[in-house]
Amino acid sequence: MSAQLIDGKATAARVLAEVAADVAVLKAKGIEPALAVVLVGNDPASQVYVRNKVLRAGEVGIRSLEYRLSADASAEAVLEVVAALNADASVNGILVQLPLPVHIDETRVLQAIDPAKDVDGFHSENVGGLSQGRPVLTPCTPAGCMRLLRDTLGDLSGKHAVVVGRSNIVGKPMAALLLAANCSVTVLHSRSVKPEKLCGQADIVVAAVGRPRMIGADWIKPGAVVIDVGINRIDEDGRSRLVGDVDFDAVREVASAITPVPGGVGPMTIALLMQNTVTAARQQHGLTAQE
Ligand code: NDP
Repeated sequence: MSAQLIDGKATAARVLAEVAADVAVLKAKGIEPALAVVLVGNDPASQVYVRNKVLRAGEVGIRSLEYRLSADASAEAVLEVVAALNADASVNGILVQLPLPVHIDETRVLQAIDPAKDVDGFHSENVGGLSQGRPVLTPCTPAGCMRLLRDTLGDLSGKHAVVVGRSNIVGKPMAALLLAANCSVTVLHSRSVKPEKLCGQADIVVAAVGRPRMIGADWIKPGAVVIDVGINRIDEDGRSRLVGDVDFDAVREVASAITPVPGGVGPMTIALLMQNTVTAARQQHGLTAQE
C-alpha cells in the first residue's frame, strides 16, 4: 500500500484564496487588514521567513509593515516598537519573528503584544483560551495541521491522536486543538517510555520533534494518517536536503495518508498566519466570521 499524499502546497493555496476573498469583503467595508512583522538581528533563516510572510501578505491584499532592529537592540527598544504597534488602530496583527537574540527575554516580548493582535497565538491569554476551548487566535502551525487533517479525514471525533513533541509552539497547542475536535489525545516527549508502542496505537500521528526520520514504519498503525511537522536539514549523498521527523519512504507504505517534507505543513503555517490576520481585523471591528 502506498499512502495518499497530503498536498500542503495545494491546500495552502486554497486557504490563501479564501483569505484573499475575505480581505476583499473587508476592503469593501473600508477596512484594510494590516500585519506588522518585527525582525531583530540578521539570522538568515528569519530573514527568509519574514520576506515570505511579507510577500504572501501582499498577494492576498493584506498591508504589511516591517520593523527591523539590529542584533544588539535592547529589550526596551523592541518593547517600544511593540507598544507603538499595540496603540496603532490601523495595525491588526503583530508578529515578532523568533528566535530573538539571546539577550532578549522572548516571553517578556510575546506577553507585551496585545492579545487581540497576537496573530502567532503565543500570548498566555490566547494559550489559556485555547486550552479552555474559547475561540482565540491559534498558533499557525498546529492550526494548519488541523486544516490538513480535516480536509483528509472530515470529522475527527473519537480518533486516537498521538502528538510526538510537547513544545509551546507546536506540540501543546496541537494537542489542545485535537482535544477540542473530540480526539483522544496522547502526547509523547523525550521521557516517554516505549514511544513507538504508544504511537503504534494512533489513528492520527502528528510528529513535531526536530529529529530527522526518527519515526519509522514500526511506529505506525496500518492505515494511520501522518502529519510531519519536522523540518531538518541534513547532508546526504553529498548534498544538503530537507527531511521531516518521519521516515517518509518507509512510513508511506504503512500509512493511509502522509504529508511530504517539504510541501506539507510548511506552506500551511504562513497561510494560517494570513487567516489569523483577517480574523484579528474582523474581531477588532466587531464583525463575525460571516460578515
Ligand atoms: P522543540 O525542540 O521546541 O520541541 C521538540 C519536542 O520533541 C520536545 O517536546 C521534546 O521533548 C520532543 N522530543 C525530543 N526528542 C524526542 C524523542 N526521542 N522522542 C520523543 N520526543 C522527543 O521543537 P519545535 O516543536 O519547535 O519543532 C519541532 C520540529 O518542527 C522542528 O523540526 C522544527 O523545525 C519544525 N517546525 C516546523 C514548522 C513548520 O512550519 N512546518 C513550524 C515550527 C516548527 P522534551 O519536551 O521532553 O524535551
